[in-house]
Amino acid sequence: MFRRAYLQPQHAEFAARVEGFLDAHVVPHHADWAARGGGLPRALWQEAGAAGLLCRTVPQVYGGPGGDLLEAAIITEALGQRRISGFLTCLQSDIVAPFVLKLGREDQKRHWLPALASGNAVGAIAMTEPQGGSDIAGIETTARRHGDSIVLNGTKTHISNAMTADVIIVAARTVLPDSGDPARRSQPAISLVMVEAERPGITRQPIDKAGMPALDTGTITFEDCVVPAANLLGAEHMGFVYLMTFLGIERLVLATYAQACAERLLRDLIADCDARKTAAGSLLDYQNTRFVLADLYSACAVNRAFVDHCLIAAQGGRSDPKAACIAKLRVTDTLRQIAAFGVQFRGAAGISGATGARASQDMLDSAVQSVWGGTSEIMRDVIGQGLASVL
Ligand SMILES: Cc1cc2nc3c(=O)[nH]c(=O)nc-3n(C[C@H](O)[C@H](O)[C@H](O)COP(=O)(O)OP(=O)(O)OC[C@H]3O[C@@H](n4cnc5c(N)ncnc54)[C@H](O)[C@@H]3O)c2cc1C
Repeated sequence: MFRRAYLQPQHAEFAARVEGFLDAHVVPHHADWAARGGGLPRALWQEAGAAGLLCRTVPQVYGGPGGDLLEAAIITEALGQRRISGFLTCLQSDIVAPFVLKLGREDQKRHWLPALASGNAVGAIAMTEPQGGSDIAGIETTARRHGDSIVLNGTKTHISNAMTADVIIVAARTVLPDSGDPARRSQPAISLVMVEAERPGITRQPIDKAGMPALDTGTITFEDCVVPAANLLGAEHMGFVYLMTFLGIERLVLATYAQACAERLLRDLIADCDARKTAAGSLLDYQNTRFVLADLYSACAVNRAFVDHCLIAAQGGRSDPKAACIAKLRVTDTLRQIAAFGVQFRGAAGISGATGARASQDMLDSAVQSVWGGTSEIMRDVIGQGLASVL
């Protein structure tokens, strides 16, 4: 929808490859997965891995394609442009894998990264708990140390890839040793643990969802689940700091996806308004329709420029977590507005789906995006912190 001068010819070639893969292997089946609430074939992960679509930024030495962040964004955008929510590879590629790459010991990286990049393993990250996902400091799942083992107890909910995952990065509360170090004590005592999903003591339950029904989402319960202490990811008790640091990346990935969804929904809406015959000619001949669409298009254009600014900065090693919050907040707000007008301007067909417009589903899907990865209220909270420093 918008010209992006910074992308190079090789990016266009890569985008064509990604789009070809998704159009052949994912798009034809997506409605079926949505109707069944999931059920993607496991082989799809391996096919995507073989096509270089997984863990794009993981270096070749760890079995990844060794691509750059803009290529990773191209994959995420191709998913959003196609309304694909059931095979969100960006979760595995750009959220789970970076935790392992940045925090893992050499043996953890050599074990898990080739598996994640090839699609032989599927990964998940489990932070959210039933009592509330916004308050990460309030995580109640416990990780008790018993010699060389850790025993996990607690429940994680609304976890993407919950039913498919082979490995789950679990955020759990640990007990701080009395180190006498006040800086460490000021952080909630949370650790990250890599848990193989087949371990005894783990039960998984799928969650039926109105929004993004094709996406594998579930609840994972840990009951005296024993894992080796060697499965700790990064330093013990440092999980809260890690989560806060990585949430910046996660939010930029989610903003990138949401922006592509917004552009796709707006493009379809403009086309449908143009095609709808009315007494005035088409819906676009009504000033009200044009004004609303002009506002949405303007918001989309500004959001695109800001998301691209964040992506270019991140590509250059200058990620800005607060800018990622601004991007996620603005883009998901615009997305929800476009989705709402998508129903309104299609009239009854936007509700019954008689035109196949999927407008009602778009509204439910877009609602997910201002909730996951931190709700819009949390984005405002983060943006609002330290506002005086901008004076
Ligand atoms: C499809 C889907 C996939 C997901 N995948 C994952 C995943 O893979 N891993 C994972 O860990 N989680 C995942 N989540 C969970 C998601 O991150 C949480 O839903 C999100 O963080 C919000 O937590 P919550 O739903 O418990 O809402 P709550 O924290 O209960 O918040 C509900 C509402 O309360 C208000 N509120 C809460 N706190 C504040 C505050 N501090 N200030 C102002 N208002 C506030 C806001 O209005 C907010 O929208 C997923 C969610 C969905 C829907």
